[in-house]
Amino acid sequence: MNAVDDKTIVREYFNAIGFDRWRRIYGDGEVNKVQLDIRQGHQQTVDTLIEWLKSDGNLAGLSICDAGCGVGSLSIPLAEAGAKVYASDISEKMVGEAKERAKKTLGNGDNPTFAVQDLETLSGRYDTVVCLDVLIHYPQEKAALMISHLASLAESRLILSFAPKTLAYSLLKKIGDFFPGPSKATRAYLHREADIIKILQNNGFTIKRQGMTSTRFYFSRLLEATRKLG
Ligand code: SAM
Repeated sequence: MNAVDDKTIVREYFNAIGFDRWRRIYGDGEVNKVQLDIRQGHQQTVDTLIEWLKSDGNLAGLSICDAGCGVGSLSIPLAEAGAKVYASDISEKMVGEAKERAKKTLGNGDNPTFAVQDLETLSGRYDTVVCLDVLIHYPQEKAALMISHLASLAESRLILSFAPKTLAYSLLKKIGDFFPGPSKATRAYLHREADIIKILQNNGFTIKRQGMTSTRFYFSRLLEATRKLG
């Protein structure tokens, strides 16, 4: 399967069955045990990141690009905290849901701004670029280009999360692949941390903070990479 296929599949998935599934997971209604576990794990990742940014004390007015924003789980609290948020996602449905949620929480404002856009076509400059739990949709050979593109948009900081490729998680994924449930409509790609760090370093970044969320069904390594303003 090539990356064009991957991307088309991902877009279609998040505009159809994946939208229904993830909107529920990233919501507060009733879900099954596995989905609840994933919801809680994802929330931990979001909370860790917001805690980092708040502890820096300069969140108000900071420009942040939330690339692959989903239903706005990160964009909305960041805008609430005063950051200027540019949120985008390849899925029209996810962006539509994010807009509705933003309206409910923040009212009719222009922050965050939302766009239906592929990561690769994003442009502009932002103090911070965040890409949370999106790399799972990118094979390793496409990850470097995608991360380098996001790096070119980031003035001083790039924050990424990904499912780490360790022996244990690879086995778990293999088992999962043997039993594909109806919701397993997209391929999941794990990434070696050393590979991701190398890509970030090649783009002039160094790792500042790191986090790891692991629940029973959710695994996400969070890396904050920074570079000096040139
Ligand atoms: N970042 C959000 C969060 O953590 O709440 C959403 C994570 S969700 C697992 C993955 C999201 O990435 C989906 O909303 C999907 O549509 C989006 N996505 C996947 N590939 C993308 C691409 N190439 N460009 C933009 N968005 C993409």
